[in-house]
Amino acid sequence: MEKENKFEGKIIIFTAPSGSGKTTIVRHLLKKYEFLGFSVSATSRKKRPKEIDGKDYYFLTPEKFQKKVDQDAFVEWEEVYPDKFYGTLKSEIERVWSKNKHVVFDIEVKGATNIKELYPDNSLAVFICPPSISELRRRLTNRKTETESSLKKRLDRAKEEMTYENKFDKVIINDLLEVALEEAEQIIESFCIN
Ligand code: ADP
Ligand code: 5GP
Repeated sequence: MEKENKFEGKIIIFTAPSGSGKTTIVRHLLKKYEFLGFSVSATSRKKRPKEIDGKDYYFLTPEKFQKKVDQDAFVEWEEVYPDKFYGTLKSEIERVWSKNKHVVFDIEVKGATNIKELYPDNSLAVFICPPSISELRRRLTNRKTETESSLKKRLDRAKEEMTYENKFDKVIINDLLEVALEEAEQIIESFCIN
């Protein structure tokens, strides 16, 4: 009898300070590799104009987010910025694996550490490093999604997040985007295609 080819789902976590280029890199990989699926996080922050509810995030009111916390619906969640909550729903990983796709996360450093600990055998965590804090400030300013106050919160947090660099399996320095994308592709191919 022929042996059944059972799908073994993997997890690839992209983590970094805000503005380092995670979303840009993850979107590129999802477009290029059909065998990847995105873990859509829930958040209580406001939707940005180009974002789509259910695709980029599940946008929840703070009350609905809290209700899901009470229902124990999250694998992990964090108050990433004051009063701005983000979390991975337990249902997400299974949703992506059920389509025979490996799960890709775009998540901050503490959540990334938690996911890595929960799935030590089939996960890979990649830290995206900006060339400098001043370049991070420039990119976040150019992105035009932040107010002066939220920009400051993101940059303050980024300085702490940079200290996590050595805790992950791989590091990509996102200086020239084309180079970073190529490195990300190589990491995906060697982890997922064997
Ligand atoms: P994150 O998801 O980590 O917050 P984004 O992917 O939104 O970061 O990138 C932040 C901003 O920087 C975006 O406007 C993006 O187009 C830009 N960006 C990303 N990578 C580079 C790069 N290598 N060089 C210049 N700008 C970049
Ligand atoms: P942004 O507001 O820029 O979309 O995201 C802010 C930060 O929250 C980013 O570092 C992003 O990766 C992180 N984040 C997104 N989803 C989750 C999640 O489900 N859990 C945790 N812990 N962080 C998340």
